[in-house]
Amino acid sequence: MTDLHKEYDYCWEIFSRQFPELAKPKLYVRKMRQKWGVCVQGVQTHITLNRCLQTAEVEFVRHVIFHEMCHLLHPNHKREFYDLLKQFDTLQMRENEKINQRAERLRQRAEAIRKTIEMSVKCNE
Ligand SMILES: [Zn+2]
Repeated sequence: MTDLHKEYDYCWEIFSRQFPELAKPKLYVRKMRQKWGVCVQGVQTHITLNRCLQTAEVEFVRHVIFHEMCHLLHPNHKREFYDLLKQFDTLQMRENEKINQRAERLRQRAEAIRKTIEMSVKCNE
């Protein structure tokens, strides 16, 4: 289960670095039939996420959250909106790459250890 509130805070931390003047919108997690997320601006600006996202991949959840956060600046889906969203998705992609690289290094180290053990076993035979 993906903790949507935790992911929301994580995304806001990144998003607000670029727009420190924005107030953090309240988050609601609701059952929705048609949408993954909604951003409502007004007296009480808030973002609502579809409860079903709890079972989605973190990567996708963050994409939806950034999408809704970008609506705080562009309430439409025009080019400027996607240019902004792309920044955060790219950032996310790089972050994932870093995680994958780290995982690969760990895998290689484990493989090296396994080979060393194998060799020492052979030497003792
Ligand atoms: Zn949208």
